[in-house]
Amino acid sequence: MAAPLRLPIALLRRAMLSFGASDWGALAGGWMGARALYGAIEAGGTKIVCAAGCGALDVPQQHRAVIPTTEPQETLEAVSAFFARIDAEAGRFRAIGLASFGPIDVTPGSPTWGTVLATPKPGWSGVSMVAPLARFGCPIALDTDVNAAALAEARLGAGQGAHSLTYITVGTGIGGGAVERDRSIRGALHPEMGHIRVRRDPRDTAFGGVCPFHGDCLEGLSSGPAIVARWGAAMSALPDGHIGPEIIGGYLGQLAATVALMLSSERIVFGGGVMSDGRVLPHIRAAARRELAGYLPIEARVGGFERLITAPQLGDRAGIAGAFLLAEALIEP
Ligand code: ZN
Repeated sequence: MAAPLRLPIALLRRAMLSFGASDWGALAGGWMGARALYGAIEAGGTKIVCAAGCGALDVPQQHRAVIPTTEPQETLEAVSAFFARIDAEAGRFRAIGLASFGPIDVTPGSPTWGTVLATPKPGWSGVSMVAPLARFGCPIALDTDVNAAALAEARLGAGQGAHSLTYITVGTGIGGGAVERDRSIRGALHPEMGHIRVRRDPRDTAFGGVCPFHGDCLEGLSSGPAIVARWGAAMSALPDGHIGPEIIGGYLGQLAATVALMLSSERIVFGGGVMSDGRVLPHIRAAARRELAGYLPIEARVGGFERLITAPQLGDRAGIAGAFLLAEALIEP
């Protein structure tokens, strides 16, 4: 059998630009037939992003969809229907990468692999995220959304030049994933960094926190819902001079210091809706520096706190790019 056709990315981009969107079906039929076609899913609490293409950089416009996360059956049927359309139009998938919200069983070989574990999300506990994809007859790669985002930032974004990276998202919840030399760190489950205990800011003792399990864990104090519950507005709506960014940055800085101490990551990337307000990141750096108190050689080994603690470079595309990387790794490890 002939080796699959491999074209440089720049050439592919030029080919994509030279075809209008309506020509893509015809183009895909020829060229995707010769190259590996991957599916990618980023399953989040409010929406599920689906894409298909030859890789994170090669996704035709009509091969993307955003499906609202509603009740499980309706949502997963829509996901399955999207990939069935691509399967019929562009050929069989070599592999599908799934970057899912957690908690989810990501242990290969486990009888409940791909199943959502106990979650406050109504109706989703015990739901298999992978069963609806079995109809495509291809291998499925699974990891958490934050582990996948960490992988993408490590390989294609903020982690270039480093071997280890932790990605933390601060939004509806707080989650963290860590990558060491292109492999995400997992154990009995996967890291759940958002639920660590933090030392309370003395100016913030009246608020009890919103985590249904722990009250004032990090997520209970610093997630988007915690900010709204405490101050009546989202981070971006807090006025100039408000103490919110400093208090939230202080808590997240404790997590950054903990990550630096426990994992020794060379990059700690903070993304998510709360972080889109640029006022928070400088407070995270300042708090991490304060917490570590000169204990780690951050300047000498990493190049300073500005280099250690950064914004994402892939923006909101990190999760879906990571899902492609998961799928590709199954076929071309
Ligand atoms: Zn918690």
